[in-house]
Amino acid sequence: MKFYRAEYIWIDGGKPTAKLRSKTKVVPVGEELPIWGFDGSSTNQAPGFNSDCVLRPVYSVPDPVRKGPNDVLVLAEVLNTDMTPHETNTRAACVETAKRFEDQEAIFGIEQEYTFFRGTRPLGFPNGGFPAPQGGYYCGVGSDEVFGRDVVEKHLDACLRAGLLISGINAEVMPGQWEFSGWSP
Ligand SMILES: [Mg+2]
Repeated sequence: MKFYRAEYIWIDGGKPTAKLRSKTKVVPVGEELPIWGFDGSSTNQAPGFNSDCVLRPVYSVPDPVRKGPNDVLVLAEVLNTDMTPHETNTRAACVETAKRFEDQEAIFGIEQEYTFFRGTRPLGFPNGGFPAPQGGYYCGVGSDEVFGRDVVEKHLDACLRAGLLISGINAEVMPGQWEFSGWSP
């Protein structure tokens, strides 16, 4: 029997900022992505005495990192064991809103900024002290202005191979800080 790897990705219950979690399911080729579960007591989503949470696949794309012919990344939403939306599942309310306004066109975009670190310092910061003030880094060009471009390019390439709606990248105002943006479908 042949198998593929499905990386289930979900949003945890972290506060003030939720984080991504993921784990891998090995699935026989030809079988649909199943409902799955996880231990919510380690993700701020359940108490230890009743820790089961449900993962329901809602979207999948080819996995651009593992690159196996059937491997996929799976966006999953979190449900309670009675299959109602978990309190950390903000997607459920978003789906209702999207359905209510499905005859209208969405015109918003989304950007995500992030910063690379090397050890305990942002990538590109000098070993002692601080970098020069902002001004040259935003949309900067050249290895004296931007840091980590090799990783950024690989990330963009992976997003495009996965078929995600990424719409651009740029260096941001601090050394080691970058942005990617996306559009609504
Ligand atoms: Mg920005």
